[in-house]
Amino acid sequence: MTHRSALTLVLASAPLWAAAQPATTRPAAPPAATTQPAATAPAAVIPCPVTGRPIDRHVVTRFRNRWVYCADADALKKFEADPYEYADQVQRQWVLDRPLRVQVRCPVTGRPIDPQVYEGRGETAVFFATPAARDEYRADPARFAAKLAEAYTYQAGCGTCGGDIVPEVSLADDGRVLYFCCRGCRAAFEKDPAAYRAKILAGIAANEAAWRARHPATATAPADRPAPP
Ligand SMILES: [Zn+2]
Repeated sequence: MTHRSALTLVLASAPLWAAAQPATTRPAAPPAATTQPAATAPAAVIPCPVTGRPIDRHVVTRFRNRWVYCADADALKKFEADPYEYADQVQRQWVLDRPLRVQVRCPVTGRPIDPQVYEGRGETAVFFATPAARDEYRADPARFAAKLAEAYTYQAGCGTCGGDIVPEVSLADDGRVLYFCCRGCRAAFEKDPAAYRAKILAGIAANEAAWRARHPATATAPADRPAPP
C-alpha cells in the first residue's frame, strides 16, 4: 500500500481549500493563484494523466472511487493497465478538476450514496445507496428526477480540512447540512463552529453561483437542507 500512502500525502499537502473556490474548479493557472469568479474565468485545460494532452470528457474510468479522464482510448488503456504509475498526474487532475457540487444522497432511498454503486460515467453518473436502488432507478429514471435534483450539495470539500466529503459524515448546522471527510473533522467543527462556518458558507455560495452560471437550466435546490422524511 505504499502507493496509496504516497497519494494520501500529496492529497494532504494540496491547496484543497483554494481548489474549492469557484475560480479554481477549472482554473487556467494553479488553484492557489486564481481568484477570479469561475463564471468569467477561462475554462482550464485539464491534462490527461498519461499523455498530458487535454482530456476528453467521454474517455473516463474509475480509480479510488473517483473519475479519471484521459485524452483518448489508448491513454485510457495504459492508465487502466497500471493506474498507480500515474498517481501523481491523477492527483494533479483532481486538484484542477474539482467539482462544483457533490452528489451525497441516493435519489431512490434518500440515504447517503455508495461511491461504488452508480449508473453512467463521468459528469452524468448518478450514484445510489444500494444496487437495489439502482435497479429501481433504471426501471424508471424520470420518476426520480425531482429527488435526484435535490441529491447534491454545493459544498465541494470537507467543512474542516477541505478533503473529499464522505456523505455519511454530516451534521445539521443552523438549518443546513454540512459535510465532512471523517468524524475527526466533524468533531473539530462541533468544537468551534465559528472557526469554520463562514469559510464553508462562502465556498457553498461561490460554487452554487458558478454552477448556476454554467448550467442555468439544471440548477436546483441543493442537499444542504435537511432530507425530507
Ligand atoms: Zn476533513
